[in-house]
Amino acid sequence: MDSALASSGLTARMTEICGPGSVITDPQELRTYECDGLTAHRCSPGLVVLPQTAEQVAAIVRECAAARVPFVARGSGTGLSGGALPRSDGVLIVTAKMRRILSVDVAARRAVVEPGVTNLSVSKAVEKYGLFYAPDPSSQVICSVGGNVAENSGGAHCLKHGFTVHHVTALQIVTPQGELTWLGDGTGTAPGYDLVGAFTGSEGTLGIATKIVVKLTPIPEAVTTLLAAFTTMGAGGAAVSAIIGSGILPGAIEMMDALAIEAAEAAVNCRYPDGAGAVLIVELDGPRGDVARDEIAVREICTQAGSYEIREARDAAERAAIWTGRKSAFAAVGRISPAYIVQDGVVPRTALPQVLDRISELSVATGIRVANVFHAGDGNLHPLVLFNDAVPGEQEAAEKVSGAILDLCIEHGGSITGEHGVGVDKSRYMPKMFGADDLDTMQLLRCAFDPAGLCNPGKVFPTPRLCGEVPGVRRGPHPLVASGQMEQF
Ligand SMILES: Cc1cc2nc3c(=O)[nH]c(=O)nc-3n(C[C@H](O)[C@H](O)[C@H](O)COP(=O)(O)OP(=O)(O)OC[C@H]3O[C@@H](n4cnc5c(N)ncnc54)[C@H](O)[C@@H]3O)c2cc1C
Repeated sequence: MDSALASSGLTARMTEICGPGSVITDPQELRTYECDGLTAHRCSPGLVVLPQTAEQVAAIVRECAAARVPFVARGSGTGLSGGALPRSDGVLIVTAKMRRILSVDVAARRAVVEPGVTNLSVSKAVEKYGLFYAPDPSSQVICSVGGNVAENSGGAHCLKHGFTVHHVTALQIVTPQGELTWLGDGTGTAPGYDLVGAFTGSEGTLGIATKIVVKLTPIPEAVTTLLAAFTTMGAGGAAVSAIIGSGILPGAIEMMDALAIEAAEAAVNCRYPDGAGAVLIVELDGPRGDVARDEIAVREICTQAGSYEIREARDAAERAAIWTGRKSAFAAVGRISPAYIVQDGVVPRTALPQVLDRISELSVATGIRVANVFHAGDGNLHPLVLFNDAVPGEQEAAEKVSGAILDLCIEHGGSITGEHGVGVDKSRYMPKMFGADDLDTMQLLRCAFDPAGLCNPGKVFPTPRLCGEVPGVRRGPHPLVASGQMEQF
């Protein structure tokens, strides 16, 4: 354990707060928490605590604040940008024991959940009332709602139903000073600044969410899932533009290229049509009549764009089979490559064909294979950059390709992340996307919540010097922004 942490007496205090079974100090056990889903960044935490209540979280944070020890929240650790990367001189606060669904108000279509509740279990708990929780990250079986709030997570159906921020109406949080407070009033219409909106997507840098009020959505009357096969990505992309251009808003439009299909076949034998250079999964949901009408239009559009086979799921099992190929795609590439990087960037839908062509050119020029799986409807790319870590230099080459893809996204007016967050992984790209004034303003917001700079420091952008300084002393832009040194982080 870090020597300052060891002499702080924090272990004993944490044990008093949470009980002996909820504090981890054994070096081997600590290693379990050394990374999230982005395994390239690792660090064993100084101390791990697993509180069971919001009051315990508040007491833990107060102890950290008094000892000036940094702390990091962790849900299920499925994040893909290193957001939950711990610190060797800090405390990792894991919400895995805070798994209660506290209340369900069917009439108001609202539930109050603890942060460690898994995403899918909310939908399972309210299914009997004809309701579901709409944000559906592919990791929904294990990721936590607290992590979803911190990352503003999306998923296949966010095209129509929106992101986490559209489904959270109030948050109980522990501030970085250890105070329990509420943001929002549960109606989504509270006057004043939208602090629920500011907290959602703040990647654990503004405090720790301890209770989450989520909106519940009626399960649609009808759902139709189509799988359309194309010989080229260009033809599939043209179908996507034409569907959206026609005014139809499917629940989801997902696209996979030949390499992603090959990986999915190898892993889960999803039996997509032979010879496909691209497949589109188009899911329509809503009132039965609307879905039937839109299905006819989508079939016509796909055929006109060159689809040579369109399949429709006839029941829930066939729907699940179609989705299994898509949802397993990240893990499936492990079948065709020893190692890979999952990238996450956004481009305007209209730029999809050019950007996909440029990615393909990059791949040919460097010899690094790239499999494309993405939320085509909202331009959220997830290129999987494949490499062999046993071949010297190949990982570095893959990282360059992965970075060049983000440059392409920025060049085309898109974003460096659609849903996986900035974390430690992409903080160096923030100055490419935002000007100094923008970064400075974001940092001022962070410092307003966390003046001591102890709450998940070093994530999103380097923790600014203003945090911890006497308020009002700083006059100019953040020194790192002014000197251009932000690039080095
Ligand atoms: C196979 C796979 C598929 C995925 N698919 C998707 C997808 O479709 N869409 C998508 O958006 N993401 C996806 N992800 C990424 C990931 O699952 C999401 O970012 C998810 O929201 C992380 O939740 P978690 O509980 O694992 O959070 P963690 O990884 O534990 O933490 C993520 C961040 O949240 C912070 N945090 C955690 N709990 C709290 C809290 N209570 N209060 C404040 N901050 C907190 C942490 O400090 C960290 O910064 C995928 C990941 C994997 C591995």
